[in-house]
Amino acid sequence: MAIATESQQQHKASAERSPVEKQRWTLEDFDIGKPLGRGKFGHVYVAREKRSQHVVALKVLFKSQLKESQVEHQLRREVEIQSHLRHPNILRLYGYFYDQKRVYLILEYAAKGELYKELQKCKYFSERRAATYVASLAGALIYCHGKHVIHRDIKPENLLVGAQGELKIADFGWSVHTFNRRRTMCGTLDYLPPEMVESVEHDANVDIWSLGVLCYEFLYGVPPFEAKEHSDTYRRIIQVDLKFPSKPAVSSAAKDLISQMLVKDSSQRLPLHKLLEHPWIVQNADASGVFRG
Ligand code: ATP
Ligand code: MG
Repeated sequence: MAIATESQQQHKASAERSPVEKQRWTLEDFDIGKPLGRGKFGHVYVAREKRSQHVVALKVLFKSQLKESQVEHQLRREVEIQSHLRHPNILRLYGYFYDQKRVYLILEYAAKGELYKELQKCKYFSERRAATYVASLAGALIYCHGKHVIHRDIKPENLLVGAQGELKIADFGWSVHTFNRRRTMCGTLDYLPPEMVESVEHDANVDIWSLGVLCYEFLYGVPPFEAKEHSDTYRRIIQVDLKFPSKPAVSSAAKDLISQMLVKDSSQRLPLHKLLEHPWIVQNADASGVFRG
């Protein structure tokens, strides 16, 4: 893929700047196609990189709006983190560029759009489909956590679907690096005291909780702690007021898995590698990560 190749070449050419900056794309490099959707800060278009003919999604953000909402810092972190991640179930961020008024993010194109819409259409997913998705997301999160990245905002709205039907985690706006960048890049853990090493694992467990909530929502069509009032949802979460409705019928193995993820004490949540060995996952998930009818 020419986009990656070019970035690699330019990477070698100037070692000082971050890989994202080095690409120095401009709007001229792309043919812009139909709008894919709009977000809080701008629009997303399908686009084709002229030289490679590679199809991407171009997210156009207005600087004025970013400034107004004071999210420039957040965007910078999002770009920094997402551009370093390479996993089939994580939406690639190839690079960015800007002009006077706008910032452009060059994103992997997720041909089948939002998972959220698919869930709305089906109301809820079959166990095989849910397990396949949950397993693929667990794999992506294991990868992130291995790089000391915690997503912190796993939910249907942030999941896109690729051409083969595979899930792509998008939107790293709330994600964090648990170490500062230098330490992460060097990857040296040797000098860290136990409490810091422990706190990494501890914090990463927020994503296990969210994945448990997501698994419930896939199977029941509604999130587990939903309530009319915010305050009630809050209370239900604090108390882990987890109930399994009788309909739709869900297997006890699935309920067992969810119960092991939605545990108040974050250190007691089922670790993601164990999740992949859970009978419900083993029996239902398609290892390819693609749900086939
Ligand atoms: P925000 O992230 O600002 O809260 P959002 O998530 O609703 O807002 P965007 O991420 O800007 O909005 O995307 C808007 C819409 O464009 C998405 O909901 C999705 O339908 C579509 N879209 C975004 N990125 C892609 C992509 N890479 N491939 C395909 N469609 C995309
Ligand atoms: Mg979004």
